[in-house]
Amino acid sequence: MQTNQRIDGERLWSTLMAMASVGATPKGGVRRLTLTEVDREGRDLFAQWCKALGLTIRVDEIGNMFARREGRDPSRKPVLMGSHLDSQPSGGKFDGALGVIAGLEVMRSLNDFNITTEAPIELVNWTDEEGSRFGHSLMGSGTWAGVFPLEKTYALTDAQGVRVDTALDSIGYRGTEPAAPFAADAYFELHIEQGPILEREGKRIGIVTGAQAQVWYDAHILGQDSHAGTTPPSTRRDALLATARVIELVDRIMRARGEDGRGTVGWLQVAPNSRNVVPGETRFSVEFRHPDFSQAQAMAAEFEAEAATLVAATGCNWSLTELFRLDAQPFDPACIALVEDAVANLGLSARRIVSGAGHDAVYVARHVPTAMIFTPCKDGLSHNEAESIEPEEAQAGCQVLFQAVLARANRPIAG
Ligand SMILES: [Zn+2]
Repeated sequence: MQTNQRIDGERLWSTLMAMASVGATPKGGVRRLTLTEVDREGRDLFAQWCKALGLTIRVDEIGNMFARREGRDPSRKPVLMGSHLDSQPSGGKFDGALGVIAGLEVMRSLNDFNITTEAPIELVNWTDEEGSRFGHSLMGSGTWAGVFPLEKTYALTDAQGVRVDTALDSIGYRGTEPAAPFAADAYFELHIEQGPILEREGKRIGIVTGAQAQVWYDAHILGQDSHAGTTPPSTRRDALLATARVIELVDRIMRARGEDGRGTVGWLQVAPNSRNVVPGETRFSVEFRHPDFSQAQAMAAEFEAEAATLVAATGCNWSLTELFRLDAQPFDPACIALVEDAVANLGLSARRIVSGAGHDAVYVARHVPTAMIFTPCKDGLSHNEAESIEPEEAQAGCQVLFQAVLARANRPIAG
């Protein structure tokens, strides 16, 4: 859809900065851990902004917030947009907040231009996207989407033993709406890329076509602790050596897929972790990702076969527990096309991109036609206090969101 109406980039930026002051850290980042007092402060501020626009707010049983602007036709399903306001412990100002505050700017612009859309529009703040407090990322959207049962989510605890339901109650955000999918027409999420591709290619917008397939494991290698000085090569069963070979294998399997594959060992425990002991035991994580599920499966199969051989050659024992295998989540072609139309209409440089990270949109997409819009971030850096974007990038992303949402909410519906 063509429109000459423009969102207010300065208002967007100043609102982003106002939200970033909630939980601001000395190094310029944000610490707004989910369901804490700081999160409550951010939610209250967001709610206050929404109410000032005449939006009505619903909160569901897991604390997801939905701010609704009515449309002309009450029989139409709402068009959703949003992201999350919680952050990592030393997070940045834009991860999540950009999508929520840009949604707010869309609502403000609709009011400014006196636009009544056909369908209602709802702006969502999903609870606990980051997973840094209760160890469960995408908690709000995952519970809403039925991936995590509500009672199980409530029973999760943080490091102090505080349960999710208690934390929701203590900040006053355990709502009464069912945490379950309702009929919605579409969902659009604007997010920073959290990777280096757009910046490297000088593109202003990423048109996200879906999320990668993933396979996650826990690995355990058992050798034998022995004296570093007295144990000759022929009798060593060095679990850390075996692990090093496995890590090298993970990297090799990744690199065999060019730029599309991902393979990471990001967590490792060594026992007894002592300078003069041949290490007898390790535990570590392994994960593979690829835009194509069959390739992710092939990486996993290759890994399972070759790792077992490598470990056996060191005289150690090997056990591998698969945690999950997640198919790639393609986004909706019609919603992607609306993002593409907006980009073309605005003459922005753009490329299609697959999301390397998990996002609320990935779970929402199981029930609602979905698309995402990425904006570049400096040096591809995120989950870091130095996370940075340019005001013009936020403005461009928000303008694309505005046009895509407007087009969807006004689309002709047959019958
Ligand atoms: Zn995020």
